[in-house]
Amino acid sequence: MFVCICVLCVCLTAVISRNQEGPGEMGKAVLIPKDDQEKMKELFKINQFNLMASDLIALNRSLPDVRLEGCKTKVYPDELPNTSVVIVFHNEAWSTLLRTVYSVINRSPHYLLSEVILVDDASERDFLKLTLENYVKNLEVPVKIIRMEERSGLIRARLRGAAASKGQVITFLDAHCECTLGWLEPLLARIKEDRKTVVCPIIDVISDDTFEYMAGSDMTYGGFNWKLNFRWYPVPQREMDRRKGDRTLPVRTPTMAGGLFSIDRNYFEEIGTYDAGMDIWGGENLEMSFRIWQCGGSLEIVTCSHVGHVFRKATPYTFPGGTGHVINKNNRRLAEVWMDEFKDFFYIISPGVVKVDYGDVSVRKTLRENLKCKPFSWYLENIYPDSQIPRRYYSLGEIRNVETNQCLDNMGRKENEKVGIFNCHGMGGNQVFSYTADKEIRTDDLCLDVSRLNGPVIMLKCHHMRGNQLWEYDAERLTLRHVNSNQCLDEPSEEDKMVPTMQDCSGTRSQQWLLRNMTLGA
Ligand code: UDP
Ligand code: MN
Repeated sequence: MFVCICVLCVCLTAVISRNQEGPGEMGKAVLIPKDDQEKMKELFKINQFNLMASDLIALNRSLPDVRLEGCKTKVYPDELPNTSVVIVFHNEAWSTLLRTVYSVINRSPHYLLSEVILVDDASERDFLKLTLENYVKNLEVPVKIIRMEERSGLIRARLRGAAASKGQVITFLDAHCECTLGWLEPLLARIKEDRKTVVCPIIDVISDDTFEYMAGSDMTYGGFNWKLNFRWYPVPQREMDRRKGDRTLPVRTPTMAGGLFSIDRNYFEEIGTYDAGMDIWGGENLEMSFRIWQCGGSLEIVTCSHVGHVFRKATPYTFPGGTGHVINKNNRRLAEVWMDEFKDFFYIISPGVVKVDYGDVSVRKTLRENLKCKPFSWYLENIYPDSQIPRRYYSLGEIRNVETNQCLDNMGRKENEKVGIFNCHGMGGNQVFSYTADKEIRTDDLCLDVSRLNGPVIMLKCHHMRGNQLWEYDAERLTLRHVNSNQCLDEPSEEDKMVPTMQDCSGTRSQQWLLRNMTLGA
């Protein structure tokens, strides 16, 4: 409480009340009245987020301070490296783009901000041309706009932005972000401590529906699945232990989401910037993650830094060449250069990928040699032991029943559902299983699990504790014996033709299974 006794106070009160009451202030959700919802839905399609809501929110809206208490009192060195902030965009909305820029300018100490660089990846919207150029001239920090001559994708656009930047550190942000109080100092401080550490903030969620600002968790980190999709997973106990339980310390993360990170400029160049042969979107985040770890750097989530990002459920823009083709090509380049024999997990699950023309990767392979980077198996063992890809395994591919000639199939089902069985289609996908060196039968992050006599066979998160997920394959009898129940995997019953059963082991043909590429010497 304070008493207003002067003109300044009146102004202050006005500012404070605007800040707390305007739409979306303090990161609150914006709800659109019923009458406008038709229009709202139309506008949603333009950017695949609620443009009407975004346009109602001030470009410099206030946000809550979502940091851990221990972060608020941390003191960082005065002498930090400065940063250029590089934001690439293709047909971004005005309000989200400018809100990103304002949040950078308003929440970063200016002596740490070398410049903001906007790279326009051949957008088609008029307001992103002269209107934008004139607008940014009046901002307090130099904002440079670079235009790509043709649609190039975020990778080559970022490369262009990086090449034009002058800061000691380069910070990349998506064009629909909001930086929160104190976001920058902890990132730069960590790079000052170790220039080979690439740092990400915690990525908070800005709702694509309401633009509500929701704190992200410091208990998740980056991984990837068999299809090479980036995924968030819980921070494992070993990483909590390494930090002695102090959640304000950075989390070593196997991969990064890719849109938001800071990297020492010279290190960015030393480590091979980006793979300029990658198009439009996708794969570049894992490529950089593997490269950093395998070539002697490290990748961390700095939990005291929070930046919001609008997560979308669909992409609003086109992928010249087709979405699938572009992503497959990028992933192919990633797998060929960095994943050694483990690329099979990706190729066997998506057989179409091996037909994609992925161009020439010899320059990237030479980079890997010159930097004397470690093998992918080292990465899995030391950086990502909880990976969905097992470090050692006996078989990978379909698991076929000898009697019915049908294959185990995860049916695209989720955790806690029954594994299915279906005609073998030889197309990978849902019929790819791995019998791992830990003797689990695994499909991506799920393991076949039986907790009762006579089944059912459920898919549960792999726990690596043996228990109900331990299976013994007898390569002579071809049986898959569930050790805890001492029963064998068998063909479906009459009642349900779509799921395998568990029966006492009898050696019948219906209990015989062929495992693809079975090598017991793994
Ligand atoms: N982007 C770009 N060119 C492209 C595709 C994307 O400049 O061809 C920009 C896009 O505007 C955004 C950033 O790259 O600022 C990341 O893309 P997006 O937000 O669609 O990726 P997501 O966050 O969904 O992974
Ligand atoms: Mn984005």
